[in-house]
Amino acid sequence: MNWRIFCDFDGTVAQNDVGNLVFTTFGDASHWWALVQAWRDKKIHACELWQKQAAVTRITVEQLDRFVVDQPIDPFFAEFCRRCSEHQLPITVVSDGMDAYIERILRQNGLANLEIRSNRLTIEADGRLQVAFPYLAQSCGSCANCKGLHLRLARQEGAKTVYVGDGYSDLCALAEADLLFAKDDLLSYCQVHHIDCIPYRTFQDVQTLFFQQLSQDDPSR
Ligand SMILES: [Mg+2]
Ligand SMILES: [Zn+2]
Repeated sequence: MNWRIFCDFDGTVAQNDVGNLVFTTFGDASHWWALVQAWRDKKIHACELWQKQAAVTRITVEQLDRFVVDQPIDPFFAEFCRRCSEHQLPITVVSDGMDAYIERILRQNGLANLEIRSNRLTIEADGRLQVAFPYLAQSCGSCANCKGLHLRLARQEGAKTVYVGDGYSDLCALAEADLLFAKDDLLSYCQVHHIDCIPYRTFQDVQTLFFQQLSQDDPSR
């Protein structure tokens, strides 16, 4: 069986929610948290969250470059990627956040070759921001980049899907994941809603439990 692995970025690959940090550090923090709450309550679309916050945020390319240097990733993620690559198991980072910080953080960890599907952030010379949503047309009507879409496309191609996540932006992936790893807010959500998932703390747990599952499916691996 061919498996495809999808990982959330903020709080999952990256230890922090870098999107939150960028937009609260360089934008208006109280404005941001009010928008996030409205999005969680389904009062606004994720695009509106990003557009409204981008309008009150100023950051230069140099400021972002410096900011991301201090953003750690899960200490076992790179090893997980290496092991998956050995087994020809493709990993895609799916995020309803922004490519500008995701690409930088993956690159500084030697992971520039990972596929990323996210929204796009362009920084202009004066620090103003432009946001774009390449996957919006196929979205669910609430997410800007709906994670469910990417898993569904993989399933339509005959793959089994693994999803690794931590929070509210992952909810659309739940119905499309054959194997679900959850921590923090996502784990609580799954427990409350009786959704089957495997709790994890780091990608070391994900690696151990996923490869156990693979060897049960196919003892030759
Ligand atoms: Mg997250
Ligand atoms: Zn969605």
